[in-house]
Amino acid sequence: MTNEELRESLLMAPKNGYATLTAEQRAEMEDYCKRYMAFMDACKTEREATDWMVAIAEQHGFKPLTAGMSLDPGDKVYYNNRGKSILLAVIGSESLASGANICAAHVDSPRLDLKPNPLYEDGEIAYFKTHYYGGIKKYQWPTIALALHGVICKKDGTTVTVTIGEDDSDPVLVVSDLLPHLAADQMKKTLADGIAGEQLNVILGTEPLSGEGSDLVKLNIMKLLNEKYGIIESDFLSAELNIVPAGKCREVGLDRSLIGAYGHDDRVCAFAEIEPLLTMGTPKHTAVCILADKEEIGSVGISGMQSWAFEYFMEMLCDAQGVKLMECYANSFCLSADVSNAFDPNFAEVSDRRNNSMLNYGVAICKYTGSRGKGGASDASAEAMSHVRTTLENAGVQWQIATLGKVDQGGGGTVAAYMANRNIVTVDAGVPVLSMHAPMEIVSKLDCYMTMLACKAIYNA
Ligand code: MN
Ligand code: MN
Repeated sequence: MTNEELRESLLMAPKNGYATLTAEQRAEMEDYCKRYMAFMDACKTEREATDWMVAIAEQHGFKPLTAGMSLDPGDKVYYNNRGKSILLAVIGSESLASGANICAAHVDSPRLDLKPNPLYEDGEIAYFKTHYYGGIKKYQWPTIALALHGVICKKDGTTVTVTIGEDDSDPVLVVSDLLPHLAADQMKKTLADGIAGEQLNVILGTEPLSGEGSDLVKLNIMKLLNEKYGIIESDFLSAELNIVPAGKCREVGLDRSLIGAYGHDDRVCAFAEIEPLLTMGTPKHTAVCILADKEEIGSVGISGMQSWAFEYFMEMLCDAQGVKLMECYANSFCLSADVSNAFDPNFAEVSDRRNNSMLNYGVAICKYTGSRGKGGASDASAEAMSHVRTTLENAGVQWQIATLGKVDQGGGGTVAAYMANRNIVTVDAGVPVLSMHAPMEIVSKLDCYMTMLACKAIYNA
């Protein structure tokens, strides 16, 4: 054998996915990404994503799961967890005793949340005070167009839904930054300190009500909100209002191979999970799709992946078949579908190039996340990695390996550890992202498409 033949038979040679993408796949990819972009334009918070998922699931014959419901193979059910997270299942032909094939993503993204008492006036400008949610770089949020999304539960028991800044005729909101002329002191600070959390105050208006009195700009804003939504200031105390980047997602690059949007992490995997579930026939093993909340702050709380809401859902499924929940868990598999960091030549020094995911190389399989000696990671076993590798290759899905940066560079986590803690074999996989957690994140169309195919293959494994 020549060295060249040996090289070909013995060594790995990862390829850009465009090398093998067929014309048919390319057309499917473009269609898929159009649907994904429409979903992203409609959904910027976990609540909006959950509402959207409920609507599309019902259109495809999914019914709300209730305790004591009888279930047959092929039945499609969902559980809406308080409007912030949704769990869906398609019942398999085999008993849940043989386990479920689960894909788990999250639908919350980093942003600015309004404080409970947010509205104030200073220097004759009205503002909202915010507390950032998730891991943001604070300096990225001033001087970009922002929108307000959320709900306000009024004292009379009614709830109003708020969206300001997305329609072309809407005003947008903004956080100001210092002019460079006077920024000598600011520019000496680190990026972490250049903009402080308490400076992320959102400008609401400047026109005072006519007449006498104090805080007339604030009063005018409250009057406008009262006219539009029927709320008074104390209603902010029972509200969830989020500040997110305004505007639609866009194709990026002269070749349109990329998509730029707020919140790809992790709605890009959420959409990849739901698409194949909607139209699947009866799978062998029950297919379960999780779209969780609160991943960005540790998967805590009632709508996060650590919540027993998952047990409630799975137990209702198991009860219908007289199966013990723990037996189902022990035989289940979970693809923790979350984004990874795409290799960025601008910041090459943070990555181990041999182990970092690349744009356009397909769905990125991550054996472990964590930081400092794999701390906090769900380190997938060789057997679990083999299962995923074989499943994807048999289904013709382009995939690659991923690690989150060089050793001791930093790190992160996903819902994987919380699924594995439940005695469910779990592997991380998802779409590589440039500028993760920034107001505009970048993904490649090819990786989005391959991640959807990967979820489909896992459901059908
Ligand atoms: Mn994520
Ligand atoms: Mn994240």
